[in-house]
Amino acid sequence: MTALPIFRNTVGGREVEAPALFESINPYTTQPWAQIPDDGAEQVDAAVAAAKHAFQSGAWPALTPSARGRLLYRLADLIAEHADRLAAIETRDNGKLIVETRAQLRYLPEWFRYFGGLADKIEGRVLPIDKPGMVAWTRREPIGVVAAILPWNSPLQLLAWKLAPLLAAGNTAVIKPSEHASASTLEFVKLFAEAGFPAGVVNTVTGFADRAGQRLVSHPDVAKIAFTGGEAGGIAVYHAAAEGLKRVTLELGGKSAQIVFADADLDAAANGVVAGIFAASGQTCVAGSRLLVERKVHDAFVSKLVELAGLARLGDPSDETTQIGPITTAAQHRRVLDHIAHARQDGATAAMGGEPGQGWFVRPTILTGVTNTMRIAREEVFGPVLAVIPFDDEAEAFALANDTPYGLAAGLWTSDTVRVFRGAEALQAGTLWINTYRAVSYMAPFGGYKRSGIGRENGQEAIDAYLQTKTVWIDPMARVANPFAIR
Ligand code: NAD
Repeated sequence: MTALPIFRNTVGGREVEAPALFESINPYTTQPWAQIPDDGAEQVDAAVAAAKHAFQSGAWPALTPSARGRLLYRLADLIAEHADRLAAIETRDNGKLIVETRAQLRYLPEWFRYFGGLADKIEGRVLPIDKPGMVAWTRREPIGVVAAILPWNSPLQLLAWKLAPLLAAGNTAVIKPSEHASASTLEFVKLFAEAGFPAGVVNTVTGFADRAGQRLVSHPDVAKIAFTGGEAGGIAVYHAAAEGLKRVTLELGGKSAQIVFADADLDAAANGVVAGIFAASGQTCVAGSRLLVERKVHDAFVSKLVELAGLARLGDPSDETTQIGPITTAAQHRRVLDHIAHARQDGATAAMGGEPGQGWFVRPTILTGVTNTMRIAREEVFGPVLAVIPFDDEAEAFALANDTPYGLAAGLWTSDTVRVFRGAEALQAGTLWINTYRAVSYMAPFGGYKRSGIGRENGQEAIDAYLQTKTVWIDPMARVANPFAIR
């Protein structure tokens, strides 16, 4: 038997020996395929120390912002060169389709180019200060060591959303990928040395939430936590951030509505609804898991969905013709099936699917007879399960869409242009897609309303989350004033 490949962490610019290893499982075969370091407090402390050292001294803080930007461009070119190789590793590790991971990886350089370009446009202001004779200005400075914590569904894409702006702003990072999909991140960080980044600017730790994860978020030298993951993890991280008075941004889950009006192009809408819930086997934060459909087209539209989703090819995610891959973990596979069973007990009917496939597969599932108060309509499933709810008019549709604790995304399908503007105002979601779904860009702010998160990634404002403002006052005359009164 050949030994499984070992992936190692990079700390202070060097690959480090692991204290212990755990196995990473290929979700398609359900067999272990790689070994990953199982880090504890000692490894986390070393990674944070390396990031702190690189933030405070040496080449990184001495770089001009333009030079920082150039490093990000160089990294972008290297990512482009290695995109297909990294995508293959990621697909093997998390079971996501190779056509999707490859597209994500080939697009990834743009994040580093966009934020590399912003690095030397971070400007303070000279204030028209109201104190005669004084001068005051602001400086926008990096925060320090950022802990970047990632989930398993799109490891490198979601990492780029954090790394590109945090590095452009001049911070350093300790990355903790998911215990279910660490391999692509550990390969990816090797590119930083090749791009010419000083040692210690980007470091990794791996392992489990209750050891490596908790140690990292509670470490006193971590100044900011940038977290993407589930609600429970997000709340725990927010508590840790409160204890340490750390800055925090959270990208969490959702229960996003796809609203289909009878006046929409129903073929395009069916395509968008299928893409929204069955792409990546529903394991995306923006999964359009609630379909709100105008009652008069309900049956015809559900038939279209069943027909379209029925054509989907389940299979090996590394095969380019596969359209639906496995669920990433055994626990998540069980959870998805539990959700379906519970929905049936609540009175929902499967118009298609509802059963497990082989291994960790779940067949595309469309549940009708759902009401918005059922658990299947309220909780994130993170699997290929669509809950269908009919509505009678626009007011009811928008009210149902907003009747959720979440607010990550929404889809609106209509040919009524005035309704588009009403929807743009009424729908409570960080991203609204109209007659399209699941489009993202480095320049388009992304994040949640309500319980879907705090803060935004992507777009120019993303860099603000990695900066702090210093106000500098100077009295050029150094005048002596009354020491007991405020100036
Ligand atoms: P998860 O919360 O279980 O884990 C995410 C990461 O956080 C992992 O690295 C984990 O080890 C770590 N972690 C969890 N609890 C922690 C704690 N108490 N302290 C420190 N670290 C901790 O999430 P997951 O199951 O890997 O990912 C799926 C979830 O992520 C879904 O809810 C999905 O909606 C969400 N998600 C959100 C976005 C977004 O941009 N809004 C994108 C992708 C996924």
